[in-house]
Amino acid sequence: MDYQENYQENKEDYINPRLKSEDNELDKSLRPKFFSDFIGQEKIVENLKVFIDSAKKRNQPLDHVILSGPPGLGKTCLAEIIANELGVNFKITSGPAIERAGDLAAILTNLEKFDVLFIDEMHRLNRVIEEILYPAMEDFKLDIIIGKGPSARSIRIDIAPFTIIGATTRIGLIAPPLRDRFGVNLRLDYYDIESIKKIIIRSAKILNLDIDDEGANAIAQRSRGTPRIANRLLKRVRDYALISGDGKITEKIAKQSLQKLDIDTMGLDVIDKKILTTIIHKFNGGPVGVGTIAVSIGEEIDTIEDVYEPYLLQLGFIKRTPKGRVATALAYKHLNINMPLGLFDLNNLNNLNNSLNSKNNIENNGQKPKLF
Ligand code: ADP
Repeated sequence: MDYQENYQENKEDYINPRLKSEDNELDKSLRPKFFSDFIGQEKIVENLKVFIDSAKKRNQPLDHVILSGPPGLGKTCLAEIIANELGVNFKITSGPAIERAGDLAAILTNLEKFDVLFIDEMHRLNRVIEEILYPAMEDFKLDIIIGKGPSARSIRIDIAPFTIIGATTRIGLIAPPLRDRFGVNLRLDYYDIESIKKIIIRSAKILNLDIDDEGANAIAQRSRGTPRIANRLLKRVRDYALISGDGKITEKIAKQSLQKLDIDTMGLDVIDKKILTTIIHKFNGGPVGVGTIAVSIGEEIDTIEDVYEPYLLQLGFIKRTPKGRVATALAYKHLNINMPLGLFDLNNLNNLNNSLNSKNNIENNGQKPKLF
């Protein structure tokens, strides 16, 4: 298969920020190890630094931390940085990997004083395991059942004081009793273009790539505010620059290569567009339930909710209503589709009426005339 075919064949995958095996090597070299390499999310970093310094001064473990937000924003990175800044071991597991009580006991009894245990996909932890986790999180005690049937008995053992850092894309799915046991609850948001650009320039430096400011900017604008996507697109543009140019990543090369991958100026790919056009054409602009959208386009509900929807919401291209998802005027405009007059008028006249009413309210001391 020639380069061009290969390039076209895989194009639908690029914006899915879930980790793929091909990213592993790249990810390791680009992963920031200390706060000094971590770009953006200033408020979160500032808070964490205070909590870490305080824990060190008190000579106590850091409070348990829960990090939430869409995939690829740096939750795992931050957890590892926290462990490095504390100067302790960093152990990784994930909600679905802890199947039995014994799995958890093995992990917890192997922790050393103040270690960080990172649990990814915290919302997929099974409820029985959660119950065992509670005394471990609160009192650093582990209840172990010995034997079976009537002769079974429970013994309580001490474990080293430690910190759990949980990560989740769905904070709403974590049971309140578990959520309440995390002293620190932080939500990561999409990065602004400037931060993504800095991440791209940093990655290019590590990978020894020649990139100019405009080239970095063009990639940043199409990276959906997500560092993992930015790094992945950088890698693809690098390939294109090597084959179609002289290796230097310029604005022209970046735009051309990302266009070939069907990633548009806002970072939307084929699946985003399928979601939007399905809402618009098949369901008259919505409202339509996410399950129906998923069936219509042949995607998993989870993927739509975790990967695509948060970015479309952030752009203001869709709205969530109690009856389902609705495409907004911005989505019609971006896709160059005429919004049916009925839909347009209703949305916009309501907004106009509200803003006029509040304006009149101020100007006429509350004696407001009604527009319609
Ligand atoms: P998550 O756990 O939220 O899915 P990761 O922590 O695995 O995301 O981050 C994905 C990749 O993005 C990392 O390997 C790293 O290369 C890059 N990355 C994430 N956040 C940053 C950041 N703030 N600065 C630089 N690179 C980052």
